Amino acid sequence: MLNKINYSIVIPVYNEAEVLQSSYVRLTDVLQNLSANYELLFVNDGSWDDTKRQLDQMERHDEHVKVLHFSRNFGHQLAITAGVDYASGEAVVVIDADLQDPPELIPEMIQKWQEGYDVIYAKRSARKGESPFKKLSASLFYRILDKVSETSIPLDTGDFRLMDKKVCEQLRLIDEKNPFVRGQVSWIGFRQTEITYTRDARLYGETKYPLRKMVKLSLDGITSFSYLPLKLASYLGSFTLGAGFLCLLVLLIKWGVTGEQLSGTGGIAVLLLILFGSCFLLLGIIGEYLARLFEDVKVRPRYIVDEANGFDFEVRKREELA
Ligand code: UDP
Ligand code: MG
Repeated sequence: MLNKINYSIVIPVYNEAEVLQSSYVRLTDVLQNLSANYELLFVNDGSWDDTKRQLDQMERHDEHVKVLHFSRNFGHQLAITAGVDYASGEAVVVIDADLQDPPELIPEMIQKWQEGYDVIYAKRSARKGESPFKKLSASLFYRILDKVSETSIPLDTGDFRLMDKKVCEQLRLIDEKNPFVRGQVSWIGFRQTEITYTRDARLYGETKYPLRKMVKLSLDGITSFSYLPLKLASYLGSFTLGAGFLCLLVLLIKWGVTGEQLSGTGGIAVLLLILFGSCFLLLGIIGEYLARLFEDVKVRPRYIVDEANGFDFEVRKREELA
């Protein structure tokens, strides 16, 4: 029988040939000290440098190493999703390959997990070696997301986290095509806690997150966890329509009091406000339906039960019923 795996470390990798050996050595040092069974699960997200060869070599020499090679670049979030799908550990840690997330924090996460927490996420108290633009845009993004999101998603927190097996089981049930993993994990719930750390500079190479990918990640985060963009039309519609009726009232009062005829310009302004207001409002109504439809096509479970007590029949898990 295969040995039970205690810890799975999921590492998304995209063109990280320069840093891969150092990552492997640092992760191995930390995990060997834990005297537990572990797997290093590298997900090669369509790299075109020497990454593939290096990973295959590691896999041949070290039984702890497992490798998934994607057919092309699917992006960081899908690489994490695949890693979690294939991980078999009791606890799963997601960590970047570039050593910006220090592997030495893993034992601290494990300790919290042993205390009974199901998710331990690493919150960045400072970020080293990143451009002012990256720091500012990231900080702004987390704050906007926090304001508009229906689920509370921790500020300044990336994907470096430990998750209990039961959280991963739930994550596997979510079938979103453009996943925003940190949001999904917050949405899943259970006992979550944070540890803080200083995010180091990249050891070698440069960021694999150009502006284009950052914008996509932000849009995925906002559209999967907020309906505000869809509701904007309703707000605008209500405001415009309200303004239209108010102007109409003013014109009518003026007409009643002074007997002054409705002027052409005033009449047109009122007509435009009321017409545009109605259009926006109708778009908003479509938005409301779209939001509900969107919720359905996301195929997230409707609810997640942590414990079920007091039943006189055995409660089966939702996934067994599916
Ligand atoms: N990555 C990936 N696919 C991509 C982009 C990045 O798997 O399309 C990996 C990358 O190799 C790294 C992690 O995701 O391990 C985070 O990427 P990066 O360090 O470039 O992002 P940053 O830290 O600059 O935000
Ligand atoms: Mg990085």
